[in-house]
Amino acid sequence: MQIFSSMDQHDHEEVVFVSHPESRLKGIIAIHNTVLGPALGGTRMWPYESEDAALNDVLRLSRGMTYKAAAAGLNLGGGKAVIIGNPKTDKNEKLFRAFGRFIQGLGGRYITAEDVGTSVRDMEWVRMETDFVTGIDEALGGSGDPSPVTATGTFHGMKATAKKLWGNESLSGKKVAVQGLGHVGYYLVKHLHEDGAEVIGTDIDENSVKRVVDEFKVKAVGPDEIYEVDADIFSPCALGAVVNDETLPKFKFKIIAGPANNQLADEEKHGEALREKGILYAPDYVINAGGLINVANELEGYHRERSLNQAKGIYDILLDVFDIAEKENIPTHKASNRLAEKRIGDIRATKRIHTQRTIIARDRAGQR
Ligand code: NAD
Repeated sequence: MQIFSSMDQHDHEEVVFVSHPESRLKGIIAIHNTVLGPALGGTRMWPYESEDAALNDVLRLSRGMTYKAAAAGLNLGGGKAVIIGNPKTDKNEKLFRAFGRFIQGLGGRYITAEDVGTSVRDMEWVRMETDFVTGIDEALGGSGDPSPVTATGTFHGMKATAKKLWGNESLSGKKVAVQGLGHVGYYLVKHLHEDGAEVIGTDIDENSVKRVVDEFKVKAVGPDEIYEVDADIFSPCALGAVVNDETLPKFKFKIIAGPANNQLADEEKHGEALREKGILYAPDYVINAGGLINVANELEGYHRERSLNQAKGIYDILLDVFDIAEKENIPTHKASNRLAEKRIGDIRATKRIHTQRTIIARDRAGQR
């Protein structure tokens, strides 16, 4: 792979390759953009087939974090790290502590957290060597499970879609099809039940289904049936790529609003197809930003109430996204990118004004 041309393609600022043969650590840290603040994004551990595959992934994921943080109104940039290895067999204290030391060496330009293949325990090892880690266990003063905050953000985001489409944000009497009743799905269903919505739910795990049927009178359907149920809103809370060539023709939904990552199998194609079908799509990285808001709050001394309130702000952000989509006649997934790019451009433009605070902020970051 041509590394510099890959970086130039999407304006990555910095890519750091780290190696520590004694612990078999091979990692890549990608810092995409730090206009708004330090680059935050989790560390993924995965047995990548090749170094190119690992680099591609870290470049793609770090860029996604820039957009997510910018759209969420956070003063954070986008970054991500990958460790090439098998999370089931290759983990040990030495590896994560070595990795932590490399992160510390970046002086706060990159802040890590857990991600696919890494756990809270791994981050505790990382934390022994660096101040620049978030998403720590509640028992250690961290923010703990982000799912309730993600669910709150998703719920208020869903209300924004209702407001846009029906002129009324109440979900009372609306039928919502929820796919995946795990961490976020459960709390989301709780909110929907309290708001008077009728929930149709599915999961491949029977216990998860039983819990919401018992607690919130959810109507259960099979995993393959969820795409064609007669509901107003579809909320993907399990897997990515659920809006695809096979599922789309089955949809009777008017809205898609859920926390799952990468819902559109092909962004361009399926984002446009949803618009043509008149289905209002709440871009996934905007509506599910509660998780990021939660860990961002941890950096300033964690308060769950503050995180929850900030996550409720996803309501207004989505209304802005829908306005851009309407005015510019573009699909909503593109409108959210424009919103993020505009914020970064606006803030970049203010940076030419010198203030003393720039220095103070840098000192503070150094103390963390
Ligand atoms: P989870 O693993 O707790 O829940 C996912 C649920 O989906 C599980 O109960 C699983 O059994 C079910 N599932 C898997 N395949 C399914 C299928 N084919 N049909 C129906 N159900 C199926 O995960 P989570 O933390 O609740 O996250 C849900 C989604 O939201 C994921 O895509 C995640 O990346 C995304 N997300 C989560 C957070 C968070 O704070 N947890 C933040 C942002 C994004």
